[in-house]
Amino acid sequence: IIQLYAPLNFFGTYYRLIQQAFIDMENMFDLLDVSCEITDNPNASPLHITDGCIEFRRVYFHYNPEKPILKDLSFTVRAGETVALVGTSGAGKSTIIRLLFRFYDIQDGQILIDGQDIRHVRQASLRQKLGVVPQDTVLFNDNIRYNIRYGRIDANDREVEEAAHYADMDERIKSFPQQYNTTVGERGLKLSGGEKQRVAIARTILKNPMIILLDEATSALDTQTERNIQNSLMRVCQGRTTIIVAHRLSTIIHANQILVLSEGEVCERGTHEDLLSLGGVYSNMWRQQQTSLEEDNVNGVDMMGE
Ligand code: ATP
Repeated sequence: IIQLYAPLNFFGTYYRLIQQAFIDMENMFDLLDVSCEITDNPNASPLHITDGCIEFRRVYFHYNPEKPILKDLSFTVRAGETVALVGTSGAGKSTIIRLLFRFYDIQDGQILIDGQDIRHVRQASLRQKLGVVPQDTVLFNDNIRYNIRYGRIDANDREVEEAAHYADMDERIKSFPQQYNTTVGERGLKLSGGEKQRVAIARTILKNPMIILLDEATSALDTQTERNIQNSLMRVCQGRTTIIVAHRLSTIIHANQILVLSEGEVCERGTHEDLLSLGGVYSNMWRQQQTSLEEDNVNGVDMMGE
């Protein structure tokens, strides 16, 4: 009987492996939210980054014509500066990141990187030059070393470990059963949300891009983890052009410019201080977050690591 079952087991295992591979691929496509309709212009040249300046010029965008998402959106992120996007859920913040990756084409206006319209550059070169720390990082069913190296596949082991160190992940990895050879992901060690974010940061450090797009996770992390992650992020974004979609306003108090989006339009813009003294949408959001933080403190939720 065992002999009879053995091949079935064998096929079962392979079936599960293949199924998992599809799940991985699906996750990847989910993450990238890939639209296959976007093709390179036959004359497209590679993106040439000189300073890392980003400009949205009178951008209009919708997924479906009946529901406009971005309406006449203009903003500039100067080389090395940080612009933060905040606003209610569904305001179009993550859409802006997707558009920069050119997962969709805009209906009107221009998106320029160092003066080059991204519709006219090769997509592969565009995506290769942008660093991204997504909301939820996809892990491959492979070891942690492979997962970090994904940021730059020709990186050597020492570079991978250095990147992990800068991302504040090295010590944690060394506590894993097989250290850097430990399998992570669905079939291996499950990493926490904060650990996955650090993998994304390590990948970005290896990639060493001039432009970083950060889509902050909505899920709450404990105070200490969040502080550590913010420190690693600040280090990795130092001197690079950064666009950050922020859910926690404490992350962005030092941003050069904050754009408050409401229904696809910028309703307020300025620094944290400017917007607080304006006493409008942003200052309300700030007050609300402060109040809920205080309530968490009173309830003891926010006491970890203090
Ligand atoms: P959140 O803070 O919740 O992440 P957001 O400001 O990042 O929100 P987006 O993800 O940019 O919002 O979405 C903007 C709007 O576009 C939402 O109403 C959303 O439902 C819609 N949307 C997003 N992706 C698609 C899609 N692929 N097809 C159709 N509509 C979409």
